[in-house]
Amino acid sequence: MKLAGKVALITGASRGIGKAIAKEFAQNGATIVISGTNKTKLDETAKELGAFAILADMRREAEVQNLINKTVEKFGKLDILVNNAGIFPKIKLLHEISSSEWRDVLDVNLTGPFYATKYSIPHLQINGGAIINIASSAGLKAYENFNADAYSASKAALVLLTKCWALEYAKNKIRVNCICPGVVETDMTSEFLSSPAMRDMMNYAYPIGRFGTVNDVAKAALYFASDEDSPWVTGAVLPLDGGESIK
Ligand code: NAD
Repeated sequence: MKLAGKVALITGASRGIGKAIAKEFAQNGATIVISGTNKTKLDETAKELGAFAILADMRREAEVQNLINKTVEKFGKLDILVNNAGIFPKIKLLHEISSSEWRDVLDVNLTGPFYATKYSIPHLQINGGAIINIASSAGLKAYENFNADAYSASKAALVLLTKCWALEYAKNKIRVNCICPGVVETDMTSEFLSSPAMRDMMNYAYPIGRFGTVNDVAKAALYFASDEDSPWVTGAVLPLDGGESIK
């Protein structure tokens, strides 16, 4: 029960990595708020996890502000924010991306975390707290044939913002850390991982011998969320990739 008494908000948590983090936090005693854009799916997940659901599109500032306000109205405080919601674009070379495709990715993956963090900070400043940004190994280096530049840019920016926010708010005892997962099996990667040949290739690409699971990410998030486990950890950027980044 590492998070007993804590109120945690996880964005984009109706499925995938966000849902696994919400489940892990709930199992550790936290009160959970999950957000997303699909009401049916969000309500279904909230029921399954015993969480409170709030609809919010991360691209819309007023909706994100409402998400934070509603959380605090309902539970009286906010202790942990996980900036998880994200999208992956269609694979294209840079010169083939339209400006609206570029903006879509930046709006969800970068401006969304900006809004959520901006409106959470005044509440986190009251008692201190933790922010966990879900970036990507694609925010740490370039990959051959990855061809998702807006995604890479959004995640690299989130890596650096983790350090900026950690420095800015350390005096308020707000710890800000970042997880950079390699390929994790979720709806985001299901098409990519649909062929046995690609699964074998991916398993081979990771020195530990396999690609990631949502639970790998959830356990790392729990570490960063827990004041007991990581009280002196802030501004950390964790490559969570079975050793791929050290090759
Ligand atoms: P997913 O597609 O299963 O889940 C993404 C979640 O974000 C969904 O709940 C979706 O509803 C939500 N979302 C999308 N657009 C939104 C918007 N405009 N407003 C609010 N919510 C929105 O993907 P996932 O793999 O679980 O990804 C979660 C995070 O992990 C993302 O930030 C992703 O970039 C990151 N990540 C994933 C992988 C991977 O291999 N799966 C690797 C590295 C990083």
